[in-house]
Amino acid sequence: MRTGIERIYATLLDQDYQRVIFGDLGDFQRKGNAYIARCPFHEDALPTLVLYGDRPEYFCFACSRRGDWLKFLQKRLEISFPEAFSRLARAAGVDAAADDETAWEADLHRSDLLENAMSFFITRLWAEEGACDLAYLYKRGYSMAEVEGMALGSYPGYVQTRDYLLSQGFAGDHLERTLSCVWNKETDSPGLAIPFRDASGRLMGLLCRDIATLGAPAYRPLTDLKPLADTPFLLYRSRGQAEVIVVEGIFDALLLDQVRLKPVMGVGSGGLSDAGIEAAAACGTRHFVLALGNGVRRRHATLEAIGRIRAKGLDVSVLPIPRRYSDLDAYIRGTCLDHFRSLLKKAMEAEQWIEKKSR
Ligand SMILES: [Zn+2]
Repeated sequence: MRTGIERIYATLLDQDYQRVIFGDLGDFQRKGNAYIARCPFHEDALPTLVLYGDRPEYFCFACSRRGDWLKFLQKRLEISFPEAFSRLARAAGVDAAADDETAWEADLHRSDLLENAMSFFITRLWAEEGACDLAYLYKRGYSMAEVEGMALGSYPGYVQTRDYLLSQGFAGDHLERTLSCVWNKETDSPGLAIPFRDASGRLMGLLCRDIATLGAPAYRPLTDLKPLADTPFLLYRSRGQAEVIVVEGIFDALLLDQVRLKPVMGVGSGGLSDAGIEAAAACGTRHFVLALGNGVRRRHATLEAIGRIRAKGLDVSVLPIPRRYSDLDAYIRGTCLDHFRSLLKKAMEAEQWIEKKSR
């Protein structure tokens, strides 16, 4: 993982640490996947502060204050950044030197900006402007509930995005500066916006799927993805789970995650890297179930991943996707969930898979 705080947040979220940080606020209570409470920064008769369940962030509907847990602790307890950091590190049992404060602030701005942009894109997907993108998803075979669960959006292009953010109160100069660091303006055309979160669930990058193009070239980064270079896609969703399926491709991972039969993470055509394995292991993965797909290239990627996982002393098995399906997405769409359920029971020991493949 890139920073100490990402590791600390990932650990504490799995312990429902919201209850410790925010539990003494008035009307603190669970609300679905999140918590709500009365905001401590002003008189509040109703609980207007939302503490997200899957990421270390808060937002107040009354005063619009938002931030992450480090920011909250600094404001509420009037303590410094290093003090707030070591408080959380101790609670997580993580021995890490404090992160750089400036880098932490930049990350905070980034996730705030991207959350704002993403909520704009999601609104557009379900409005008239998103009709083509939505039709594409339905045509691909996803149900309305699946599309909603994937939290995808419709990206209108850079200029509209910047104008929207300006209307949301992001200061012009500052916004331009942040966007020029984060946004990938060179490949700017509309498409489906896909959120990419770090291991602690913070929104650190966005991808775009051009619906008029086929295959891998259809995907392009909307933002710089450097902070996510070592992070398998959807890793934050499988945190704390010992056994995780690994698939190739963004939509394969999103679909499997919606199916909810087993935790999943997605990798690119480069396969599962050493850093990716380490990030997953730090989040609790002990057993990787490889389902990277069929064909020479993907089989090679599977073999490589087996070697890398074993070298780290972790368990690995392979899901034998019937050869007439290119990958798990095609298999699930081509059969049904019951078939997928029984395929899950057929996961093979890596040894056995290698032997069968060489026959
Ligand atoms: Zn407030």
